[in-house]
Amino acid sequence: MTKTVDVKKGDLLYAGKAKSIYKTDNPDYTIMAFRDDVSAFNGVKLEQLQRKGQINNFFNGFIMQKLEEAGIPTHFVGFTSETESCVKKLDMLPLESVIRNRAAGSIAKRYGLKEGLEFNPPTVEFFFKSDELNDPMLNESIILTLGYATQDQLDQMKDLSLRVNTVLSEIFDKAGILLVDFKLEFGLFNGQIVLGDEFSPDGSRLWDKETLEKLDKDRFRQDLGGVVEAYEDVANRIGVPDYFA
Ligand code: ADP
Ligand code: UDP
Repeated sequence: MTKTVDVKKGDLLYAGKAKSIYKTDNPDYTIMAFRDDVSAFNGVKLEQLQRKGQINNFFNGFIMQKLEEAGIPTHFVGFTSETESCVKKLDMLPLESVIRNRAAGSIAKRYGLKEGLEFNPPTVEFFFKSDELNDPMLNESIILTLGYATQDQLDQMKDLSLRVNTVLSEIFDKAGILLVDFKLEFGLFNGQIVLGDEFSPDGSRLWDKETLEKLDKDRFRQDLGGVVEAYEDVANRIGVPDYFA
């Protein structure tokens, strides 16, 4: 199951809020480095959480491999270190795709919904990825008119996001965890839509099925403590291995 890959790390291309992207000796690949930085409220609240980078790297690699097995094209190539993965270099679309199975966060606030309200069918939302503009919500018409994606790309992103939801809801359910919501990002590789970025407790909401305890970044947003411990608990429950043990 350990998927490691041997590529040479080059110059830094981009440092985001939680990850850094490096060139490699293969123009099709980049290295994604998961840092210990955690941020919320568009970078206003910032901290470092020891070991988070490693946990999220393994968490993401594990999930991406599960999605590949289910036929979803992802950028994941393999691990290059405890905190780094080799991924296909994508031309990222400037969109965030958010799927929700229950009300929480911004949708609960926007429509005055009680946290935990079940959604059937799940909702699909797109946001414009812009720190400057605070990631405003988009609709299909705006996406098409502003050229952020074509109709075909949009249809594929919706379909893939919902398929990711089906695959991951089952994995978390078996571990006694509710997949409340999550954010995905897609990009183009040789013109094809591919799932990029990451899936980890940093970009999803995961609640214990019995106690409804939050096991994701809301622990950081809401100062609940035990952030890394919760991420590790989820990783253990779904069977994420220590790939470099
Ligand atoms: P942010 O940019 O939101 O602060 P991160 O710290 O997570 O976020 O930085 C990771 C950046 O890398 C994001 O901008 C993301 O869109 C981009 N990215 C993710 N996957 C890939 C990929 N496969 N190829 C190129 N860029 C990617
Ligand atoms: N999310 C994310 N990055 C963002 C915005 C949202 O990873 O820039 C994730 C967030 O962690 C949650 C889901 O997307 O799992 C839905 O977030 P929401 O719209 O409720 O916004 P928030 O409560 O984070 O402001």
